[in-house]
Amino acid sequence: MTFDDFQLHPDVADGVHGMGYTKPSPIQEQAIPAALAGKDLIACAQTGTGKTAAYLLPVLDFIAYERPAHTTALILCPTRELAKQIDEQVEGFGYHVGASSIAIYGGGKSENWEQQKRALTQGADIIIATPGRLIAHMQLGYVKLDQLDFLILDEADKMLDMGFSDDIIQIVNHLPTKRQTLLFSATMPNKIREFSKKILHEPEEIRLAVSKPAENINQQMYMVYDTMKLALLEHLIGELDVQSMILFTSRKMNVGPIERALRKKGLNVRGITSDRTQEEREQVMRDFKNKQFQILVATDVMSRGIDVSELSHVVNFDLPRDAEDYVHRIGRTARAGTSGMAITFVSDHDQDAVVKIEKLIERELEKKPTPEEIGPSPEFDPKKYRGRGASGPGGRGGKSSPFGGGGRSGSRPERPASSAPKPAIAVAEGAEAPAVAGETDEQKKRRKKRRRGPKPEGATSGGIEATASTTTESPAGEAAPSVDGSTDEAAKRRRKRGGRNRSGRGPKPEGSSVAAEATATSE
Ligand code: ADP
Ligand code: MG
Repeated sequence: MTFDDFQLHPDVADGVHGMGYTKPSPIQEQAIPAALAGKDLIACAQTGTGKTAAYLLPVLDFIAYERPAHTTALILCPTRELAKQIDEQVEGFGYHVGASSIAIYGGGKSENWEQQKRALTQGADIIIATPGRLIAHMQLGYVKLDQLDFLILDEADKMLDMGFSDDIIQIVNHLPTKRQTLLFSATMPNKIREFSKKILHEPEEIRLAVSKPAENINQQMYMVYDTMKLALLEHLIGELDVQSMILFTSRKMNVGPIERALRKKGLNVRGITSDRTQEEREQVMRDFKNKQFQILVATDVMSRGIDVSELSHVVNFDLPRDAEDYVHRIGRTARAGTSGMAITFVSDHDQDAVVKIEKLIERELEKKPTPEEIGPSPEFDPKKYRGRGASGPGGRGGKSSPFGGGGRSGSRPERPASSAPKPAIAVAEGAEAPAVAGETDEQKKRRKKRRRGPKPEGATSGGIEATASTTTESPAGEAAPSVDGSTDEAAKRRRKRGGRNRSGRGPKPEGSSVAAEATATSE
């Protein structure tokens, strides 16, 4: 399969080409046709599988054909970094479409607030926003989303983890009910499923199986009480040849003590939590990628924003919340044929999660006991400990932190046992739409699907005309379906119309994507 098979608008196809994409990834193969057909979508695929293009291309295709004069798409995402990345991708893929976008994120009013306000007042084809910041602007009345065609939730799991669900619902309440909603997520805990029921309409569900961890990752599990974890870490670290390691912990309060303990061992280590400012975090990440220091200690909440592979070691000081997260994390080691090691600490109350991980990776892992010189070791007996984790009655593991204080540990949502990926083939149904000369079946389907909302009459005929006229410009020089009466003139007309509709909007305001953001603090 190639991108040509999607029959994207030629301007979008040019953008894809310009970005150097030739073959769609599996999630793109499945999600793009479903989205083009106008379906609501829940798409779950692990990090790095190409979810961004999976939703951007259908949106840009819509913009290229319809040339709406209003904001077409709202993309909600959890962090400033992601908003920026998405904005850059829109610029890349949408270059030939001329789609405008603005990224809205940030904390205090001082931080580019006025620039964002101006940009929002002018409007754009695509708004990319972190939920909290968007609400702050919406409350002032100049954000116009009343004709929105697409709502996209990117990294939905992370947004819910960060406590954005109320904000998202509040935003959704201001959107037209006739819209297409696409939800993308790396994991699919039950709370996503529940949440999606509130905002999606009969969604197509696409779930790609998490690929198994590479064989050359040495996966080790240690049974250890929470109070002994730090001692065990100190013990192990002396024996390892650490070139580049990330250590994940579920508690912010653990980061400092871990940093200090490792530093005492002569290791070059730095921590990253949501308490740090955005600039500090970016600096730490840059330094880590440039191998300025050996060990990065990060919290779970930070973990998905960390895009580093080629590590020699990953340590799960606490078990990740979802089995998929375990696979994502350890996959950061052992790239390109090198071997890597993943060390996971399993406490007495984490045992259900281990069972889930083993089910997912279809492999049982050896559990080593805490060495005697360090202290007693919990036994591995998931039946005995069932329900002692956060997912069981009482909701907490009941163990104190190794660094004092209670707090969350091992809290993770349950997932249904049967989570087999469901093939998603979007089929357009409904009454025959009026024929458009030369239109391919695919385009007709798409057009029918899209005529759902009470759109102004003119928009409809415009869309059809555009569809017909542009099939002559099929990408990659392939023979285009013949279009009766369609000429270069028609294509020009379409472009003009596009220009007129969008006039008064002007170019993307300078600095619209340079604001700062309040990162989530819900660790
Ligand atoms: P996800 O959102 O699933 O984590 P991204 O959309 O960020 O993944 O894509 C991960 C990386 O893969 C990016 O660098 C992106 O440009 C690249 N990529 C995605 N799809 C393709 C493709 N079809 N061909 C080539 N590169 C791709
Ligand atoms: Mg992504």
